[in-house]
Amino acid sequence: MSERGHVFIVSGPSGSGKSTVLREVFKRRDRLYFSVSATTRAPRPGERDGVDYWFITEERFDEMVEQDQFLEHARYAKCSYGTPAGPVREKLREGFDVILDIEVQGGRQVKARMPEAISLFIAPPSLEELERRLRGRSTESEEKIKLRLETAKNELPEAEKYDHVVVNDDYMRAAGELLDIINNA
Ligand code: 5GP
Repeated sequence: MSERGHVFIVSGPSGSGKSTVLREVFKRRDRLYFSVSATTRAPRPGERDGVDYWFITEERFDEMVEQDQFLEHARYAKCSYGTPAGPVREKLREGFDVILDIEVQGGRQVKARMPEAISLFIAPPSLEELERRLRGRSTESEEKIKLRLETAKNELPEAEKYDHVVVNDDYMRAAGELLDIINNA
């Protein structure tokens, strides 16, 4: 297996259940690398530095931008997010497939730089269901939930620009669909 791995851009609004689907995908598949992003948002309960994200300051983030360390980066819900380029390149060389869990602006940047990357959009079954899931999480203030809901409404029309759209009506089923796409790349 000396072949280079593939890059998969996985986008989907906050509350689409994307993280749950991805967790299931990682349980069922080896040689898959989850790209750990850098972010300036505060950790949620249970999130671990270096595992879920690299939690960094705006100053450090700006420094990394200046040093051209990101494959892509974007502002989302008043925070900065970016994909460190080094680990992605390294894992691809090692033959790993790489998952980028990133929002739509970042997805566009990666497609422009790596047209061979395969893009997947995870969509909620409906806006009502999305809102229900966002509220169910209850780790965020009402103001943040509203902001994320508004952002989601702007993101959903982007789905048509993706190579694949997976509707997350059931996370086990959606994970299976994602795996089929990954395994057939
Ligand atoms: P959350 O704050 O809910 O973890 O993530 C918010 C959004 O930022 C999600 O859509 C997630 O996919 C996206 N995101 C996470 N990391 C990155 C990144 O490195 N770059 C970009 N552009 N978006 C990211």
